[in-house]
Order: sequence, then C-alpha cells, then structure tokens
Amino acid sequence: MEELALFGGKPVRDNKIYYGRQWIDEDDIQAVANALQGPFITCGPKVEEAERKLAEYTGAKYAVVCSNGTAALHCACIAAGIGPGDEVITTPLTFAASANCAFYCGAKPVFADIDPETWNIDPGSIRDHITSRTKAVVAVDFTGQAVKNREIREICNEFNLIFIEDAAHAIGTRYDGKQVGSLADMTCFSFHPVKTITSGEGGAITTNNEDFYKKLVLAHTHGITHDDDLMEDAPHEGVWYYEQISLGFNYRMTDFQASLLMSQLGKIELFKQRRAAIVNKYNLAFKDVPGIIIQKEIPESDTCRHLYIIRLDLCKLKCTRRQFFDAMSAENVQCQIHYVPVYWFPYYRHRGYEKGLCPVAEDVYKGIMSIPLYPTLTDADTDDVILAVKKIAGYYAL
Ligand SMILES: *Cc1c(COP(=O)(O)O)cnc(C)c1O
Repeated sequence: MEELALFGGKPVRDNKIYYGRQWIDEDDIQAVANALQGPFITCGPKVEEAERKLAEYTGAKYAVVCSNGTAALHCACIAAGIGPGDEVITTPLTFAASANCAFYCGAKPVFADIDPETWNIDPGSIRDHITSRTKAVVAVDFTGQAVKNREIREICNEFNLIFIEDAAHAIGTRYDGKQVGSLADMTCFSFHPVKTITSGEGGAITTNNEDFYKKLVLAHTHGITHDDDLMEDAPHEGVWYYEQISLGFNYRMTDFQASLLMSQLGKIELFKQRRAAIVNKYNLAFKDVPGIIIQKEIPESDTCRHLYIIRLDLCKLKCTRRQFFDAMSAENVQCQIHYVPVYWFPYYRHRGYEKGLCPVAEDVYKGIMSIPLYPTLTDADTDDVILAVKKIAGYYAL
C-alpha cells in the first residue's frame, strides 16, 4: 500500500488546492474598472440595474442588493417584524449568521434537526419545535441543494410563520422547476468569494411581497426615505428633504460591486454546469468506496452545488476525522469542515444551548469534510482529489 504523505510518502500533488475559490475573468475586471470611472461609486445606476437583473434571474418580483449575506439575513428578519420574545427556527449545520440574525433582532434562535441523508433541515423537526412564540423559519439550502420548499411552505401557512430561505449556497438552484429566490417569503443570498458568484463582499434579498420589499429597502439604508408616499410630515420643504421613518442600517452595496455581480450573474449557468460535472465525477468515484458516504439529493432540487462534502463512515475506518483531514492536507488537498453545529459555540453555550439538542446534526458533523469544488478546477485537479480520498480511505480501511 502506498505510504500516506502524512507519514513521509509522496503527496498526490505538489501544490496545494483549497476547497473553494472565485472565478474572475478579464470581463469581470473590465466591468469593475468601468464602474469606477463613472460618476457614481456607490448609490448609482449599477445597483438598480443589478437589482433588476437579479429579480429577473430568480423570477422574484423584487430584489434588494446589500453589503453581504449576513446583512441580507438581518434585513429579512427586520422586514419580517421579528423582535424580542420571538423565536426563529433554523438548522445547526450552517454558518453562524443563519442563527445570529435572530439574536440581532432580540429574538431567540431555535434549532431543528436535519435529515440524516440530505443534511438539510427536517420539516418534521421544524414542526416539533413550533411554539406560540415562533415567528419565522430560516431554512438553509445546505451545499446548494434546495430545502423541502413544499413541506416548509405548508408548515409556515399552517402556523402563520414567515419563511425565510437562506440561499447563500444556492443561487442557480431550481426547486420543482422554479428558481430559488422566487419561492420563500424572502430569500437571502451571499456573494462572498467562496460562494458560487461573487461581488467581493455582497448579498441580496429577493421577495414577491411589496410590503416586505419596502421594509427591506428601509432596513438597508438607515430607515431613510425620499418617497412622498411614505413620509409622515408632508408637505415637505423641498427636494432635498428626506425622512428617517424607521431604524435601519447602512448595508448598501457599491456600484462597482454591483457591476462585478452582474458580470458574474451572466456566467452562472456555465459555473453551474462545470460544478455539476465535478459533482457527478466525484459521486461516481466515491459511491462504492468503503468508509465514504455521499450526499443524497432530492429529485425536486436541480442543484447548483456550492460545496462537495464527503461524510466519513467512521465505523468502517480506523482513523478519526481529524487524521483523515490532516492526511488530505499532507497530500496537498486542503479541505474544510462545514460546519461546527452553531449552538456548540461559546456564545450560544453561554446562553443556555447545550450539546445534544440536535443529535442527527451532531452525528453528521463528526464525519463531514468539504473537498475542493469550484469551476476552475481542472480534470487533473479533480483526479488528484479522488486519488487522495481513495488513497487515505484505502489506507485506513478496516
Ligand atoms: C456565507 C453564508 C452566510 C453569510 O454570508 P456573508 O456574505 O459571508 O455575510 C450566511 N449563511 C450561510 C449559509 C452562508 O454560507
């Protein structure tokens, strides 16, 4: 058997590859340069154009772009009217922002467990966690696979809850033929460089609801309006006049970021295809490797995959996840773990959340590892990743 690089063997490749990275072309750079030469660097026409394009792409009536995905979630919670005493149900297997947004509004995040095979929030567990204080569900399309929209919609209708979809991983995904962004009451996106398309930092919220839209606009720009219809103290003194009518934030996106976003949005189907080709190749390569479990996909989701995660079946391997991760690293394939269950963090622990709340998520967490997935990976790169996984799984096979 081939010696692992971890123990001094020859690594499968000479230079390191990482789990994710952006794809920026000359035309993206040109789009940013053009915007920088225009009269507006922020609050200009590119932002409005990006919002129109994003609404068009997702099939939502309205889109608001903002400074990042976390701001998008915060604005969605504000527009949903979430406040002290309310509860917001979300998944623990996510980036902390999906739950923190409830705390931002003085509400309490409540964690529902996940499906052991798709790793998305389990609608049955959402149901089990509803109380008279529940106000909203923040459902995360984990790795890009759509959550069970139909079931979650039914639950939200039945209990009068607002359905917020955290689609930070899922731009480009369709559910039952409909684009993610057009389904939930509000859908939040992130355009951080590791996500499928990027604007540097950036985010957006899409909605079909005019009332939410108006609140989102206010929330991301100080609660200030120039709209005569919204102002309280009319007639006003002149065209310079504006009013602050709620408490908002400065969560705006700049024009040059909006230009990059539009340029990237134009390439999303290409990115999606390339990602899907890699996912298919990995699935084929790993489906019969003892000790490796691959993610189950629901047929309703036509997924634009953001992350490729393998789950180690630790009963079939004589190593820990840590050893496997370090062995991958030594082979020059730098993996990442998505994610530590949110309520394990000290901030949550100090607020009374305890280990054991979501046993499925905790169990899944123990074996998962994100391997490289991004459109500029070459066939040789993905061959190396497969070789590394098989080499290590073979070495540690029971
Ligand atoms: C990245 C991410 C966010 C936050 O987005 P930022 O743009 O980094 O603020 C929120 N939720 C999920 C699931 C994410 O992956």
